[in-house]
Amino acid sequence: MKIILCIFGLFFLGFSGGGRAIAQMALTPGGGGLPDPQLSQKDNDYLDRQAKVFLDSVQALLSVYPPVIHEGRERSMAKLLMDAVFHEKYAAFRKPAQEFFHGQTDHLIRNLEQTIVKKGAMIWKVYNMGFIVRTKSVTIAFDLVRGATAGSPDFTLTTEETDRLVTQCDVLFISHKHNDHADKAVAENFLNSGKPVITPEEVWKNDPIFPGITHLERVSEKVQKLTLKDNRTLDVIIYPGHQLTSAINNVSMITTAEGITIAHTGDQINEGEMMGDFEWIDQVSKNHKVDILMPNAWTTDIFRIVRGFNPALVVPGHEIELGHTVWDRLPFWGDDKYLELNYADLKRSKYPVVALVWGESYSFNP
Ligand SMILES: [Zn+2]
Repeated sequence: MKIILCIFGLFFLGFSGGGRAIAQMALTPGGGGLPDPQLSQKDNDYLDRQAKVFLDSVQALLSVYPPVIHEGRERSMAKLLMDAVFHEKYAAFRKPAQEFFHGQTDHLIRNLEQTIVKKGAMIWKVYNMGFIVRTKSVTIAFDLVRGATAGSPDFTLTTEETDRLVTQCDVLFISHKHNDHADKAVAENFLNSGKPVITPEEVWKNDPIFPGITHLERVSEKVQKLTLKDNRTLDVIIYPGHQLTSAINNVSMITTAEGITIAHTGDQINEGEMMGDFEWIDQVSKNHKVDILMPNAWTTDIFRIVRGFNPALVVPGHEIELGHTVWDRLPFWGDDKYLELNYADLKRSKYPVVALVWGESYSFNP
């Protein structure tokens, strides 16, 4: 298929002047609008107005129906509206979508700046697999990114927003090299503030940033002490995970000074011949009392991963990653049958699952 597309590409490039216009017309019937050139401007303007109405409704619903375990219909409907708006190729280029993301993040930042945790933990979802978890003693960021993968500079978090987020955190764990998880601008911000960034060795391997990064050993059940800026320490296990064969993936499990154990799976996926990681996944809960697990919702057999960690709370991530093509932006409703997943089943199961939207938080009290 790729070869065919290349040939067509060359064919169209060969035209000039009128020929090119005809080729464009063939590609954009009745179109030429922005941001979607296949639609007229009037059609694009309608989709903008619809996005605004839908996302205003999302915010209105979420403000009345905050995150809970086993959420009700109203909150689920808000997420369906989000799925509808963001499963359109040019969603990130529409102003209402940009305003929604920045509005949610602004709310998160203010909340983060004002929140003191005395007991348990507070969990915020920023974007994709980007989470921030705060306990009494520490604030930990996982796979924190600016949303640059969506491709729109106006969607991407600003330098000011990024600064304010990083200011609130003590350490950043990055699971693997893909840019919906590893954002160099964010990592540099942490390092420039004297805050550790932990990644697998294949992340930014030949980049000047590499020597400043902390590379912990990827060994199951090996507890490593990580020292933070002001000599506080964290107990860390880096489980040797994988995203099939495409990336080495750190599954980080951290125990804070209060004894709260938090795990984040990055893009962990096991299927077909790559099932070896279940050897350690299946054993985690036999060795640890896990409090909070943040798994990637699109992984195959998320049930088995959750069973392996057996956490007191599951907070899935990676819904609606706009850097992916439309069908591959895992919706909140799951699309399980097509994708052969069991995420929707997990949400209906006995496990305590709280699915956050960008900018939302949930208070965990053991
Ligand atoms: Zn990913």
